Amino acid sequence: MARVPVKLVSWEEIVEWSRGLADRIEESGWRPDVVVAVARGGFVPARLICDFLDITDLLSVQSQHWVEAARAAQKAILKYPYRVDLEGKKVLIVDDIVDTGDTLLLAKEFVEREWGPSETRTAAMQWISSVAKFKPDYYYLEVRDWVWFQYPWTRLEDTMQFIARILREDERARSGVSEDELKSIFREWYGVDPEELGFYWELALKRLREKGVVRAENGKLLPR
Ligand code: AMP
Repeated sequence: MARVPVKLVSWEEIVEWSRGLADRIEESGWRPDVVVAVARGGFVPARLICDFLDITDLLSVQSQHWVEAARAAQKAILKYPYRVDLEGKKVLIVDDIVDTGDTLLLAKEFVEREWGPSETRTAAMQWISSVAKFKPDYYYLEVRDWVWFQYPWTRLEDTMQFIARILREDERARSGVSEDELKSIFREWYGVDPEELGFYWELALKRLREKGVVRAENGKLLPR
């Protein structure tokens, strides 16, 4: 069993899941005038939903909740709380996943309070029903067992954070490991074979070296 269960999500799956989500919205007979993407995770699904439902108005709010991949901060906050007049508009607020639900709830409350739409509904490709304090009006997949979905738009960011965490927390890595040993610890921790990450693996190591998180010494990788 992986320490942190991770599922690599492909671009094809994102298109399929967003299409499925758009179908659910269409089948309900409700049509939004404006789509609001919750940045950053909701960007791609929101854009695809606009395409599938033929909607041109797309706005965004940015909320922040997870400090790093698979590690939640205490509180979701909204950055840049600017105001827009959406009086009389039906608004669909879109995110990639509802995990705790804090992010989408915060975005919904903000839009309702500050932007004055006539109605808001929420949508996410995935809903983790076992932990979420909130069920979106629309979702495509219900997830029961918690997993970190490694979406394609955060592949580099997540890979860097996953490696950095091993170097900080794994006893074997703290005293220095070869790249092959690091790959094997990565498999053990996340249940993902670094070979599946393609160019992202090398790029993540390069960035971590540039940032001074990792250093190479006598063929071994070490934390700073
Ligand atoms: P939350 O406020 O907990 O519902 O989640 C906030 C954001 O964090 C989501 O919109 C995702 O971008 C990201 N996130 C949270 N949980 C997961 C997960 N299990 N897999 C991938 N991304 C996640």
